[in-house]
Amino acid sequence: MTDSGPRVVVIGAGIIGQSTAYYLAHAGAAVTLMDSDDGPSPTSRSSLGVLTHAYGADDAYSSFYRDCHALHEPLSALLFQETGIDVGWRPLGGIDLAFDEGEAGTLRDWVDLNLSRGAEAEWLDESALREAEPGLTTAALGGARFPQDGRVDPVRLGTALRVAAQKRGTVVRTSTTVTEIRPLDGGVDCHLAMASGECTESYDVAVVTTGAWTGELAPSVRVRPIRGQSGFFSGVHVRHVLRWGGLHALPDGDDTLVGGTVDEVGFDLTTTDAARQEL
Ligand SMILES: Cc1cc2nc3c(=O)[nH]c(=O)nc-3n(C[C@H](O)[C@H](O)[C@H](O)COP(=O)(O)OP(=O)(O)OC[C@H]3O[C@@H](n4cnc5c(N)ncnc54)[C@H](O)[C@@H]3O)c2cc1C
Repeated sequence: MTDSGPRVVVIGAGIIGQSTAYYLAHAGAAVTLMDSDDGPSPTSRSSLGVLTHAYGADDAYSSFYRDCHALHEPLSALLFQETGIDVGWRPLGGIDLAFDEGEAGTLRDWVDLNLSRGAEAEWLDESALREAEPGLTTAALGGARFPQDGRVDPVRLGTALRVAAQKRGTVVRTSTTVTEIRPLDGGVDCHLAMASGECTESYDVAVVTTGAWTGELAPSVRVRPIRGQSGFFSGVHVRHVLRWGGLHALPDGDDTLVGGTVDEVGFDLTTTDAARQEL
């Protein structure tokens, strides 16, 4: 411990590590945020930034999702005050599209479920859907609209969290890979590899926020990488976050951003023609 609170190392500076550092720094911890890279994480910078408010399930995960969602609007305002960075929070609203009667029935149930727990939701028949999304040319026969869905810019959000954490004393170390964590009595030893060499540092607490790489540092945590691809499309305009078949489309400036492909190819970051076709 130091006078300023526990010494915490946050390992991995993606969106989760940056927000962990931010909240710990606010709570008075002496935070060091480390990342093996020197730029935004390939995962967090690729995110579409969609903040989905409503789900069809009524379980603990679903309510955790809603609680987290509710933090974004006040957090965006606070980060703007603290850093002057607009994280791009926008209440776009989301629409899940139905292409057959089976999907329409499921989505109507989602609307009822979300209304029953106090969320905003409405079923749009085909003509209401066309009015809400005039650019839609698909054969969708209706959709479930969730007006509270929103979006942030994930890179700007991460930057604002990190800058605000630094203003509260967080030390950021890039190009620093943690290769091993050894628990000690009342603390942890972290073995670090940097261009300048290797060393061991002691902290009171280590928080592992290494995303898909977590299994390398903590093999008991079973996490595997899944590649997702997205693309910008010009000349197509949407107003909401549209969802169908696991994909998302949303407005991004004058373009439409479409994403959500899923491949089990390990840490391969290359983009593919197959994904472009799918999107
Ligand atoms: C195309 C695409 C679209 C997506 N869209 C959305 C969306 O709309 N909404 C949404 O909520 N989510 C979305 N996601 C998911 C979201 O991007 C991820 O869930 C999120 O970015 C994970 O953040 P993270 O901080 O956990 O991990 P990461 O961003 O992967 O960060 C982990 C960090 O740990 C570092 N690291 C790893 N090992 C070590 C080590 N040993 N030592 C030091 N540093 C280490 C890495 O360099 C990396 O920077 C999308 C993902 C993709 C790919």
